[in-house]
Amino acid sequence: SNRIMLGPLVAAIDQGTSSTRFLVFNAKTAELLSHHQVEIKQSFPKEGWVEEDPKEILQSVYECMDRTCEKLTQLNIDISNIKAIGVTNQRETTLVWDKETGEPLYNAIVWLDLRTQSTVERLINKTPGRNKNHLKHKTGLPISTYFSAVKLRWLMDNVEKVHEAVLSHRAMFGTVDSWLIWVITPYFQCLTGGKKGGVHCTDVTNASRTMLFNIHTLDWDPELCTYFDIPMEILPKVRSSSEIYGLMCLGDQSAALVGQMCFKDGQAKNTYGTGCFLLKNVGTKPVMSDHGLLTTVAYKLGRDKPACYALEGSVAIAGAVVRWLKDNLGIIQTSTELEKLAADVGTSYGCYFVPAFSGLYAPYWEPSARGIICGLTQFTNRSHLAFAALEAVCFQTREILDAMNQDSGIHLSQLQVDGGMTSNRLLMQLQADILCIPVVKPSMPETTALGAAMAAGAAEGVSVWSLNPEDLTEVTSEKFEPQINPEGPLYWWTTGTLLETSRRHVMTPKVH
Ligand code: ADP
Repeated sequence: SNRIMLGPLVAAIDQGTSSTRFLVFNAKTAELLSHHQVEIKQSFPKEGWVEEDPKEILQSVYECMDRTCEKLTQLNIDISNIKAIGVTNQRETTLVWDKETGEPLYNAIVWLDLRTQSTVERLINKTPGRNKNHLKHKTGLPISTYFSAVKLRWLMDNVEKVHEAVLSHRAMFGTVDSWLIWVITPYFQCLTGGKKGGVHCTDVTNASRTMLFNIHTLDWDPELCTYFDIPMEILPKVRSSSEIYGLMCLGDQSAALVGQMCFKDGQAKNTYGTGCFLLKNVGTKPVMSDHGLLTTVAYKLGRDKPACYALEGSVAIAGAVVRWLKDNLGIIQTSTELEKLAADVGTSYGCYFVPAFSGLYAPYWEPSARGIICGLTQFTNRSHLAFAALEAVCFQTREILDAMNQDSGIHLSQLQVDGGMTSNRLLMQLQADILCIPVVKPSMPETTALGAAMAAGAAEGVSVWSLNPEDLTEVTSEKFEPQINPEGPLYWWTTGTLLETSRRHVMTPKVH
């Protein structure tokens, strides 16, 4: 036949907060050969609640895989050349399912969800000195609505089916990686004639976001499980990424770090998706932050390889503010329209937007904060609002970078970026201006998927282009240079100055 000979291919399932993708790369050149993307519905059943349907997530993965393989076949590319598949996923999002029936027992509670705010406040109030960093020495994380343990606690306390399944030893907890691997692995095993049966596991990067995982010992921590009163039998087995049968997983932000080839101590990347996540590789010893950043496992690429750690600044709302302008205010029809709308005015004209829809994450960790828009005049229009929304993303990143620089005493000389929002060139220029350092964007935008595919390829012994640092020069990228003088006057706010204003005032209704 006239099949094209390409050599080995590597693939990735990229299950993000807003969409699922399946992508296939040439393992030698990292060229993206084919991909398919499906948007994921989010539901907001109550104020502050964010859920996704586990079955829809699964269906979207199958659909993306099928459609991508169809496209490859049309291109005369033999899909049996796919030698490894990486899974990369939205982190922290929490699921529980029944191991007998395979049925999810509730929707997935998305990382952004705020329903556990009162639980978190109660837990913090119980700690000595009301210290939200009480568990940080083990977990690298503050007690927050963000991480899985409190979401799992909520499910056990509030969903009868979950409660019962835990009592009858039928419950399985997992983040999205565990859910996908548990369901999909038997399917792969069938294809390869291997042993049947679901595999309940996760990798160290995802485990490190649960608050039940000790980032020093790289295992579940009995004390943390007791603290949150979670039975250890419902937790998945923690593997290094490469041990997982047929599929290997890596949390999305770790995959982006790998995809950006930040393998050296001090290298950093910022990913602009639903939220915004700046991770800096700090090497094989965990470094604790004094400035509100998280310490997290960056990757562990093999059972006998050392774990590498990262300092992370997480911003809850970045691209989500664009979705909000589209879905809730209707001032744009598509997210791509935002750039033109903002560029029409080129200034926010003194309008400021703090999109603290899910409280504030790094460096504040303030679940009670809420969004505000201020500085409005008669003159303000939707273009100014659009511009202020883009600025908000840049200002939040600036705060994270400042914290990172303060923690290390070393100033980052440029910022490598990726994620869906980076297609917005105005945002990229604004970010360079506001950071006063160049912003560098790879021309192949699917860095997260590339990282997952690369890591999977390496684990399967497929020599992969990008794990060779000499090949770095092959990466083409675009550089946005700062265009405002760092010495000159720069009007800007920090979220902190507006924090008091954004704190929620709960109104007690008057009873007559
Ligand atoms: P995730 O991995 O969290 O699912 P992605 O990296 O796929 O996110 O990015 C999607 C996000 O980027 C969405 O929230 C969307 O609103 C935002 N986005 C996409 N294109 C643009 C654009 N041109 N300008 C601004 N935001 C955008």
